[in-house]
Amino acid sequence: MPFNQPLGGNEMPRFGGPVTFMRLPSAASAEGLDVAFTGIPMDIGTSNRPGTRLGPRQIRDESRMLRPYNMATGAAPFDHLQCADIGDVAINTFDLKKSVDIITAAYDGILSHGAIPLTMGGDHTLTWPILRAIRKKHGPVALIHVDAHADINDTMFGEKVAHGCPFRRAWEDGCLLNDKVFQIGLRGTGYGPDDFDWGRNNGWTVVQAEECWHRSLAPLMADIRAKIGDAPVYLSYDIDSLDPAFAPGTGTVEPGGLTIWQGLEIVRGCAGLNLIGGDLVEVSPPYDPSGNTALIGANLLYEMLCVLPGVPQRKRG
Ligand code: MN
Ligand code: MN
Repeated sequence: MPFNQPLGGNEMPRFGGPVTFMRLPSAASAEGLDVAFTGIPMDIGTSNRPGTRLGPRQIRDESRMLRPYNMATGAAPFDHLQCADIGDVAINTFDLKKSVDIITAAYDGILSHGAIPLTMGGDHTLTWPILRAIRKKHGPVALIHVDAHADINDTMFGEKVAHGCPFRRAWEDGCLLNDKVFQIGLRGTGYGPDDFDWGRNNGWTVVQAEECWHRSLAPLMADIRAKIGDAPVYLSYDIDSLDPAFAPGTGTVEPGGLTIWQGLEIVRGCAGLNLIGGDLVEVSPPYDPSGNTALIGANLLYEMLCVLPGVPQRKRG
């Protein structure tokens, strides 16, 4: 069977055609796919500005300009992987606790077909139910978590399920290989001076944003690849890891963040890892009037596709 290709700009104007990720064919399920682009239109787990329920739609729209070949890395993902957009998970927008179970069930289905899920969020709550499904399939996994925030709160407003809690819940559920968890880009103000140490005390590696300033993150990623080895890895990318100068369209903005090129170095630095899933979360279109935040999110999701196992890379320079 020939591989699905994105609808090209010479076949249909970029502003027309299907509103799927990269204008790929849509599919009813992940059956027969290597990669399933999936939306989770959710913002009922957010603590500050809302709007990420509109994220998947806007990421799909802004992905329309993406062409199939990665000129920086040589990756040609659509020549090697069968990809489609399987639409959105039908969360219950009136019930967050029901929604996380709906998400786990949906990802059980995706993973049962052997497809790698690449997810468009949605607020960061969604990563916990995805990791629960991943654990059933792969066991505990390594985690690369790019974010301004640690997202390891025990509770928020007394609740265990919220966008500031997913990695605490995933840790409780035994979803993570604690010596292979990397949090990159953390910064801002905290509730206590030791807020970022909870993960460190569990064996996680926490790289705060200030340690990233003014330098290439390629050496950091080489170190992370060496530490992860062959273990299965999940990549969770919160768009608020980027400085708001680049990506203002998100709910919980913190200045002093990563640059776009550092974000690209992180994702491209995942080439060679055994990636088994990834997400791009927290794009909030109401705070993104230019569309740039969604556009960067779409590009980062494409870059994740380009580093999946089975996609050859040009040799690292
Ligand atoms: Mn987050
Ligand atoms: Mn965040």
